[in-house]
Amino acid sequence: LLRLDDVTVRFRPGQPPALDAVGLSVAAREIVCVLGPSGSGKSTLLRVVAGLQAADAGRVFLEGRDQSGVPTHRRGVGLMFQDHQLFPQRDVGGNVAFGLRMRGASRAEQERTVAGLLDLVGLPGAQRRAVAALSGGEQQRVALARALAPRPRLLMLDEPLGQLDRGLRERLVVELRRVFGELGTTVLAVTHDQGEAFALADRVVVMQDGRIAQSGTPLEVWQRPATEFVARFLGFDN
Ligand code: ATP
Ligand code: MG
Repeated sequence: LLRLDDVTVRFRPGQPPALDAVGLSVAAREIVCVLGPSGSGKSTLLRVVAGLQAADAGRVFLEGRDQSGVPTHRRGVGLMFQDHQLFPQRDVGGNVAFGLRMRGASRAEQERTVAGLLDLVGLPGAQRRAVAALSGGEQQRVALARALAPRPRLLMLDEPLGQLDRGLRERLVVELRRVFGELGTTVLAVTHDQGEAFALADRVVVMQDGRIAQSGTPLEVWQRPATEFVARFLGFDN
């Protein structure tokens, strides 16, 4: 579904690139989590796929089609960032329906889709609630429902649960896996929480200085770190 061929992004000449000839493929319905230290290029990777950041070299393909020059809103990808920025003046339903309205969906279709998604994220009947009156975890679920509403072929999450406490995160991760499985959503998620990545992902990608240090199932990466960097990053002393 997604393929990156030798994608390089260099913000400043003379400095090491933020992404250094990165190659990555994501299959349909696969959940891939990108792990790595701060500054290793995780967010830049998502931004390039979304078309929010141009690549200096290399190509991004979605369903086999080169995305060079294709604007973000034409890529069919959904984005959810840590600061999910719900629209505070709209209620829950208005937030979730946002992308559907943009696409010109009928009122009945909007209502049906919103109700279904709120059920799915565990907030049934919350359409008329004010977003400001929701807890952090509830707001995160609304943001997720909003990102899923236009049925993106690829959903990208950048530290989606970053603000939440550990217990809530662990519960939400389990729910997320179920939701993505039910909808058949392909997911590329960034986190620097290993536990979250290992619980959510079919495959884990570890980044180091703009390169992919290892890519494998959570078990493979955990049992056989490919390099000393990966082992240290995962917290093995030796
Ligand atoms: P974090 O875990 O802190 O979010 P990250 O892995 O997401 O880190 P990126 O945001 O992708 O890292 O940044 C990778 C590198 O590119 C860093 O050295 C960063 O300073 C640099 N960088 C990112 N965005 C820009 C920008 N808009 N202009 C200049 N440099 C940038
Ligand atoms: Mg980042």
